[in-house]
Amino acid sequence: MKKVLIAPRKYIQGRGVLSELGDYLKLLGQRPLVLWDSVVKDLVGPTVEASCRRAGLELVAVEFAGEATAAERARVGALASQAHADISVGVGGGKVLDVAKAVAVDNRIAMVTVPTIASNDSPTSAASVWYDEQHNFVTFDCWPFNPDIVLVDTQVVANGPVRAFVAGMGDALSTWVETEAAHKSRAQNIAGGRPTQAALMIARLCFETLLEHGLDAKRDVELHVVTPAVEKVVEANVLLSGLGFESGGLATAHMIGNLLSNVPACQAKGLMHGEKVAFGIVTQLCLDDEMDADEKASIVDFEIAIGLPVTFAELNLAGVTRAQLQAIGDACAGPGSLCHNHPFKVTADDVLDAMFAADALGRHRQEMV
Ligand SMILES: [Zn+2]
Repeated sequence: MKKVLIAPRKYIQGRGVLSELGDYLKLLGQRPLVLWDSVVKDLVGPTVEASCRRAGLELVAVEFAGEATAAERARVGALASQAHADISVGVGGGKVLDVAKAVAVDNRIAMVTVPTIASNDSPTSAASVWYDEQHNFVTFDCWPFNPDIVLVDTQVVANGPVRAFVAGMGDALSTWVETEAAHKSRAQNIAGGRPTQAALMIARLCFETLLEHGLDAKRDVELHVVTPAVEKVVEANVLLSGLGFESGGLATAHMIGNLLSNVPACQAKGLMHGEKVAFGIVTQLCLDDEMDADEKASIVDFEIAIGLPVTFAELNLAGVTRAQLQAIGDACAGPGSLCHNHPFKVTADDVLDAMFAADALGRHRQEMV
């Protein structure tokens, strides 16, 4: 089978690079539509506006309505048409970027992502995740191409919430775990082929970078300082993870993470994507009969050390019953599930058993530290 690798056209990362945004946008067009929420606009708006002004661009600013829904996609798309925007720029977190990406595709204009937090790998990917008005996960779309430009200002990321940074490590930590499973099962990647050697090495590098520098980077972000560890982990969370998951493969960790979004108790806790995926990783480790026990423990210990959830209690699911999780098991065993990207058959019972085993393992390892 053919191998396919997909990637953004240009990736820029560093302290203060946001002030260069206008120069990069100028490579693509003249009238950028910038989608952001009011919090992000207050934080970085003056820098973005000054940069676009210096580059002679006519900026069209649009405030995000708060959720990545089909209605928001249509609303922002219509505003882009009316304004004759030729670039769709998402500035902020994953949901804003996902809508901006869809608008770029719908309006056939350039696509630019400017993540202000490194909470997931959406910025580099060609995918958008959709939710309904009640914040339930609905589906995801894969676009024909990745963003034309991804620009990450590491000082902005380091100034942001530590929790988002850690959640990004949860999302990125899953990349190798899932890519390895999907590779062994000869599964097709999201790009529509088998993984290249480059994708496998990128996924592995992502994993090793996190284990080596993740804890240091978390401490540094708590101080809002930009260090080599922070730079390495931002690259892992945003670039390596994005390239790795799309051109490598996904499996059970993301299936569990996505399905936890629809559990009311998890919603009530307002968990981030990477936090739910973090529990999905532990579940997948408990599902895999070839998993080395020491490696399994070391991955769980790393999650605990940086503060990712590894137990039902941390997901607001303390005392959850098997019946309450049955829908997750059924979806995992159902058609189109990412759980089929393993070199063994996965049933609903296998998944439910693995979830309870994951919770027990998580509690056990927490007691050890
Ligand atoms: Zn993810």
